[in-house]
Amino acid sequence: MIDLSGKTALVTAAAHGIGRASVLALAQAGAHVIATDIDEDALEGLSGASVETARLDVLDPAAIDGMADRMARADILFNCAGVVHSGTLLEASDDDLDFAYALNIKAMTRMIRACLPGMIDRREGAIINMASVASSVKGVPNRFVYGVTKAAVIGLTKAVAADYVGMGVRCNAICPGTVDTPSLNARLAAQGDYEETRAAFVARQPIGRLGQAEEIADLVVYLAGATYTTGQIHNIDGGWSI
Ligand code: NAD
Repeated sequence: MIDLSGKTALVTAAAHGIGRASVLALAQAGAHVIATDIDEDALEGLSGASVETARLDVLDPAAIDGMADRMARADILFNCAGVVHSGTLLEASDDDLDFAYALNIKAMTRMIRACLPGMIDRREGAIINMASVASSVKGVPNRFVYGVTKAAVIGLTKAVAADYVGMGVRCNAICPGTVDTPSLNARLAAQGDYEETRAAFVARQPIGRLGQAEEIADLVVYLAGATYTTGQIHNIDGGWSI
């Protein structure tokens, strides 16, 4: 069992879905967790003895700077925030690309930049970046902007891993398949026929069902404590990428 006692973990996009499940799993494994999100109301329910909450919009560099003390304390950083754009290249505007780049890549870069010095000082750090199977792992229809930016997360992860492996800092990427979360359900509802679209999403997972946020959270905990693993892509996708 992974024991994260004495460690501080900082999680972005922690109010719902995979981020929220990861906060609970990291706390369960013994970590003190700083749970951040833009949805302050939903964060409130997470506060407790081992979880402190804070509003953080990862698109706002000043807000990241404003949390320097908390960034300095983070032994574990789970960069979970990200946006899914639906559509092909011909359906993607420059603004769509810019927004996805800002949230999926630039914000992640800034979070790592803020947390790295403390990790290097302590010669111990675990960075976990949220990518996706829809990336350089697998071409997925109607996920042009998403696939491009999540592929960049994999490149970012390997670059950081290579630069800091000698300083005690590990950096890994998680690539989920389709996970049952609020944002997924909103995307399914936006297609018109929710049940039909959900059945189509289930059908593309060879394991026969959608993933659960708690299953991804278990992998986050594993990577937080997997002291001999860095620079790797961890697919967790119900067999989608076999
Ligand atoms: P979710 O909708 O359940 O939760 C997203 C959270 O992000 C919300 O709490 C929201 O308030 C927060 N958020 C949005 N913009 C933010 C910002 N600027 N700063 C801080 N927080 C912000 O989402 P989810 O499905 O759990 O997805 C989380 C991550 O997992 C994303 O990076 C997504 O791309 C990735 N992912 C999801 C799936 C899936 O099928 N659900 C698959 C692969 C990868």
